[in-house]
Formats: sequence, C-alpha cells, structure tokens
Amino acid sequence: MHEVGIAQNLLKAAQQAMPPMTSPRVVALKVQLGPLAGVSPDELQFGFEIASMDTPFAGATLEIESVPVVVFCPSCQKEHTLSEPEPVHCPACGLPGVELRQGRELVLMSFEVGDEAESN
Ligand SMILES: [Zn+2]
Repeated sequence: MHEVGIAQNLLKAAQQAMPPMTSPRVVALKVQLGPLAGVSPDELQFGFEIASMDTPFAGATLEIESVPVVVFCPSCQKEHTLSEPEPVHCPACGLPGVELRQGRELVLMSFEVGDEAESN
C-alpha cells in the first residue's frame, strides 16, 4: 500500500500550495508522473482515492500526465527520450552510464478549487 503514502505526500504538498482560505473544496489535481517514480498511474489513482478520504480533496479528479524518461548520454553529448522506461541506457550508443534527466517525477502541476462562495 505504498501508493497511499505517496498520494498522502502529494496531498500534503497540495495543501501547502493552497492559498490560506476557509475550507476550499478541491475539484481537480493535475500531476506529472514519470515511469520511474515508483508508482504506476493506476496505483496512484487508487492511493489518491484512499488518501483523500475526509480531506478537502475527497471526490476530486486526479489528472495524471505521464512524462517520458529522458537521459543525457555523456558519450553522445546529447539528451535522449527513451521509448521504454527501462533499461535506462543510451538508446543511440547503448551506454549504460547515462544521467537521468527526467522520469522520476511526481510533481503537482496545478489544482482547481471549487466555488463555494455561492451559497444561495
Ligand atoms: Zn549515447
């Protein structure tokens, strides 16, 4: 159930990023997820549902944008986007000692807050 912990960390980050207003209702969260983040989109959705219970995020939509793995190859002196997340090596020359530039992210991009001011 580590995906629940991952989702909880995400919600914590979202809560800190939220403007300090009175109990906003969050309707949607958008995150970027790399294939090497240690959680799959499905697992994250599931974890989010559990972690968001009894929080301002309950019932919110989690939009997951998948980002590809990008490596920098010191031999090619170039960045490459991998079509498969693993193995992490240079797709052009096969060098395994490449530098991971992207692919581990689990980043909160934005969130939408519902309009609760209309109370009539
Ligand atoms: Zn290379």
